[in-house]
Amino acid sequence: MEISVDKSTAIGTKFRPKDSELGFGKYTTDHMFLMDYKKDKGWYDPRIVPYQPLKLDPAAMVLHYNQEVFEGLKAYHLEDGGIGLFRPDKNVDRMNASARRMVMPEIDPGLFVKAMKELILLDRQWLPTSEGTSLYIRPTMIANEPALGVRPSEQYLFYIIIGPVGAYYPEGFNPTKIYVTDEYVRAAIGGAGEAKTSGNYGATLIASQLAAKKGYTQVLWLDAKDKKHVEEVGTSNIFFKIDDQLVTPPLGGTILPGITRDSVLQIARSWGLDVLERPISIDKVVKGCEDGSLKEMFATGTAAVISPVGEICYKEKDFQVADGQTGELAKKLYDEITGIQYGRKEDPFGWRVRIV
Ligand SMILES: *Cc1c(COP(=O)(O)O)cnc(C)c1O
Repeated sequence: MEISVDKSTAIGTKFRPKDSELGFGKYTTDHMFLMDYKKDKGWYDPRIVPYQPLKLDPAAMVLHYNQEVFEGLKAYHLEDGGIGLFRPDKNVDRMNASARRMVMPEIDPGLFVKAMKELILLDRQWLPTSEGTSLYIRPTMIANEPALGVRPSEQYLFYIIIGPVGAYYPEGFNPTKIYVTDEYVRAAIGGAGEAKTSGNYGATLIASQLAAKKGYTQVLWLDAKDKKHVEEVGTSNIFFKIDDQLVTPPLGGTILPGITRDSVLQIARSWGLDVLERPISIDKVVKGCEDGSLKEMFATGTAAVISPVGEICYKEKDFQVADGQTGELAKKLYDEITGIQYGRKEDPFGWRVRIV
């Protein structure tokens, strides 16, 4: 399918902050990609148009029954002046997996990647170039059939918006404090926890707000049934270095299959580390803080890549992780992954996808 392009007549008029003032998720570029779906017709009319509000019927099913899936990835300014993506095929596969879970139509992977590339190339003057900055990409699919009554929609809109984002660690790589909730849960077995779908996030804001009020930056989720095993932290996956083993909870339907998580597992294995995907109890984590067997703890996700954890609060008691500083392995993994993303390092796994 050919993508039609309607170039903005207003290129360059949108406010564009300095790289140092970008923050995360605050700005979007001049254009967006759109494509429609109807049950009898399939996907049609792929197009790039000037960035603009969507026209949505107030009865659009997404607004009532939450049929929505999304993705998050980044485009990077490479060392040699080119533009790169990091494992975009994984985001495409995951979005289609999320869509299947939410009874939504899948998107042709080739067209999906082509749409991202064309949009980024058209708005490439928005790609920030300072250390640690990137262009964030947010593919989204919504059910836009105007109909009340709970059933799968017969009409969908797929769109991609992009925007410049700042360095996650402008002042260096500082460990966060996280709050373990045994009151709220993120996902139960049989639920939609492994899908990137908006309802999962709306339902957890209350726990993030509670954690923030108590002075913590993120929430650590436990399993919904026993509130015993660790699942994820905020919107990131979680890793523990216990003695000489690197441990992360196994994917089992309630955990979002992070692409950064998968990258960390592959890199750590290639370094010869002892890596395990195995359930880990919160009691073991707390004990590890007390007896020193927990050497490092860090979260993984596209936004921050690696986010070291320096302190956890469980049952209203604070526990420091090792010396409370960023661990050696967290730093090394961060350097390796960002090195591949920005074209500073060899890419032994073939993860970097060059746009230009
Ligand atoms: C997106 C997301 C992650 C991280 O996935 P990446 O592909 O590494 O960015 C982890 N947990 C949740 C709940 C997420 O939404």
